[in-house]
Amino acid sequence: MNRFNQYVNDLFVWNEQMRHFLHSEQVEQDAELWQQLDEFTELIENVNQELSTEQLLSLQAKVEHIHEKMENYFARKQGQGVGTIWTEAPKLSPGEHTLPKLPYAYHALEPYISEEIMRLHHDKHHRSYVDGLNNAERSLKKARETKDFSLIKHWSRELAFHGSGHYLHTIFWHNMNPHGGGQPKGLLQDEINRYFGSFAAFKHQFSEAAKQVEGSGWALLVWSPMAGHLEILQSERHMQLTQWTTVPLLVLDVWEHAYYLQYKNNRAEYINNWWNVVYWHNVEMRLEKALDNTPGI
Ligand code: MN
Repeated sequence: MNRFNQYVNDLFVWNEQMRHFLHSEQVEQDAELWQQLDEFTELIENVNQELSTEQLLSLQAKVEHIHEKMENYFARKQGQGVGTIWTEAPKLSPGEHTLPKLPYAYHALEPYISEEIMRLHHDKHHRSYVDGLNNAERSLKKARETKDFSLIKHWSRELAFHGSGHYLHTIFWHNMNPHGGGQPKGLLQDEINRYFGSFAAFKHQFSEAAKQVEGSGWALLVWSPMAGHLEILQSERHMQLTQWTTVPLLVLDVWEHAYYLQYKNNRAEYINNWWNVVYWHNVEMRLEKALDNTPGI
């Protein structure tokens, strides 16, 4: 094989790898990166004879261009912390939910949240919500098939409880980061100032909402598409006291399993320390995404 053929062959392999990678990342199909790769695929598939030097140079230029795009993609992904890149939501069949990986190491949030808590919280508690959600979905599928809905009240409750548990934990992990803390920027900062008056006022209300959740539950910063403003809500357990149509942006788990091993009954200290790992970049992205998808009335 001459050097030219070798080069084109390498390009084929590289192209396949890139496509496979983009597919595994679930990058939206119409993304610019995909388009360029599609063009490139078409181009190299039509290479069936020796190219002129100019054509070869043009091919190389395209490779370099796509390579640069990919590097930017990786850099962006790096900057956001692994796992916060926006991917297309999967279309799951009943019972297909899986436990997502933490976007950082178990000890990464120390000293504010201990490795022991993160291991138990993610591996045991979160997994039980994923399993519970799958079980509820499969049971309801079976009910549809057998036309036996005698347990629908039970499975509807299970669906709400485990579904909310799974989704909120997934957001919660991404809301935190070892490079977190500080204050939000950009649009999120503007919206916080506009509605709550200041970051300090927002933080005070959010902390109080978290401290005063009755029993197990959450504090949530949400976007209300109907009202066109942010709001702070509490949730008892995982799914009560919520406001339909809102989009969770920042969530804080105040179930005892989230802090008891490290903070005992001092929920307030856990909440105060938690602000050190809030990953505002992730919250900012969530707000932008929520605004993009605002359906209107
Ligand atoms: Mn939890």
